[in-house]
Amino acid sequence: MLSLASLSVSAPASAAAALGPTASGYGGAISTVDATATAVGLDVLRRGGNAVDAAIAAAATLGVTEPFSAGIGGGGFFVYYDAKRRTVSTIDGRETGPASMTSTYFIDPADGLPYDFAEARVSGLSTGVPGTLATWQSAARMWGSRPLGNLLRPAASVADRGFVVDATFRQQVTDNAAAFGQFDATGELYLPGGAPPAVGTVLRNPDLADTYRLIAREGTGVFYRGPIARDIVRTVRQPPVSATPTSTWPYPIRPGRLTLDDLAGYRVNLPAPTRSDFRDLTVYGMSTPSSGGTAVGEALNIIERAGLSGGDVTQALHWYLEASALAFADRNRYVGADTPRAVLRKLISDSWAAQRACQISPARALVKPVPPGDINATGCTPSTVGGPTDQGKSTTNLTVADRWGNVVEYTLTIEQTGGNAMVVPGRGFLLNNELTDFNFTGTQGTAPDPNLPGPGKRPRSSMSPTIVLKHGKPFLALGSPGGATIITTVLQVLLNRVVLDMSLPQAMAAPRASQRNSAGIQAEPAFRTAYGPSLTPLGHTFAPDVAELGAATAIELTPYGGLIASAEPTRRGGGAAAVVHPR
Ligand code: GLU
Repeated sequence: MLSLASLSVSAPASAAAALGPTASGYGGAISTVDATATAVGLDVLRRGGNAVDAAIAAAATLGVTEPFSAGIGGGGFFVYYDAKRRTVSTIDGRETGPASMTSTYFIDPADGLPYDFAEARVSGLSTGVPGTLATWQSAARMWGSRPLGNLLRPAASVADRGFVVDATFRQQVTDNAAAFGQFDATGELYLPGGAPPAVGTVLRNPDLADTYRLIAREGTGVFYRGPIARDIVRTVRQPPVSATPTSTWPYPIRPGRLTLDDLAGYRVNLPAPTRSDFRDLTVYGMSTPSSGGTAVGEALNIIERAGLSGGDVTQALHWYLEASALAFADRNRYVGADTPRAVLRKLISDSWAAQRACQISPARALVKPVPPGDINATGCTPSTVGGPTDQGKSTTNLTVADRWGNVVEYTLTIEQTGGNAMVVPGRGFLLNNELTDFNFTGTQGTAPDPNLPGPGKRPRSSMSPTIVLKHGKPFLALGSPGGATIITTVLQVLLNRVVLDMSLPQAMAAPRASQRNSAGIQAEPAFRTAYGPSLTPLGHTFAPDVAELGAATAIELTPYGGLIASAEPTRRGGGAAAVVHPR
């Protein structure tokens, strides 16, 4: 077996410099948000590794270079198309709450009110048992062709050697300086000399390199049951607040409740993917605890009923916005980690889409928020009022295809940019704040809220790694970060590519908007400028602009083995796409 330990670290580094947002060719492809991670994954593909090997090696590298969005302190969802078996499988590596968690976990006992989001975030309470390493281990065992240890070594080299700080990285530190300055281990790593690192400087993370190598040598047991587990539990239960903080933080930093047993008991789940049809496509997505698969599937089913053609952009966008709002109302009302399978199946059925689409008028936008549908009814009557939505902006996504036709779509996260702001001392990685993805209190009026905390429960996610087959063969794989906007970004890229007939790079670059069942559409300025004039007369209203939505990655598989790898041209500083044999 070829060893990646011998990987020349300078090869990916120089390759990284040349990578742009689009690449086409054959023999394997990868798209990530980061040039170093893409170069590492490409190197694995070139050396005969498969898509799963490359995805793990790239994800481990993102843990170094995109540490505020991803890493072994977090979780994620891995979707895999196996070319030999012609099946789509998923790994649910979502973070898990402590066994002692109850529905009032985020209620301050002192006053009976929910904690402020920022207070809950920067605390031990927000941290769930990380699932990322267990995801890599399971994927490597089930589908990879290299031991996990080999796949961690290129990332360890990047952590040792360091990487160049860019403007996005510096901005993420700047935005987090108040929280990071509370913890010595975080400050020493990311606030060198007490300030965010300058653009162009090299940042090294030798502790993380050692952590990766320890895991490579001894296996994931050191993380879930050994010395790293003890360090995680100590950090969560006794947050290592600095005696000499370099910042002020307006909240008490509360301890959490994770135990060694919680870590030792962590298991990934292997749920069947969600599956729905759109025209001649079969769309596979992530099931619960993600709401991504059902929400994307439901919205596509609703859009399909419009019988749109590529020529009418206004109607296509109108249906996209209406379908998103309806799907979000249903998601908020019905989807959480414990939602019965029968309900999930109903939400992505054509009969449900008919029941929901009947409310859409081509001439007039629905008043938002729209109520959810009544899961027990068959007619066009909605049920009680739904709740608000959530939004974050951390997370990262990557897409890989290999020469054998296997495809990986993988979204991983530590929740907010910077997670809970605590680097585990001596270990070099940040902890997640994923448990703040639970609703702190009920949001569904008199109806039960499917996303309240509970013992050992996984919080609802919006991550939507998606693999689309056409006539039974992989056609498109895509995903994005962006909290609840992930669902709409994935939908909109699909709409752009499949309904509006854009090329994949055009579909990725096009300006975005997100309607998550609130009064105003959240849109990038270019979207509102281009489409506001035709959508406003239909009754659509806009919230204040947001600078950007998402940071997607995608790969299209064209007939005869061609591959188009696509990343963001500009959002979040632009991503990096590569193919093994460029055309
Ligand atoms: N925690 C979010 C989720 O699982 C993702 C965070 C983000 O992308 O900002 O849906």
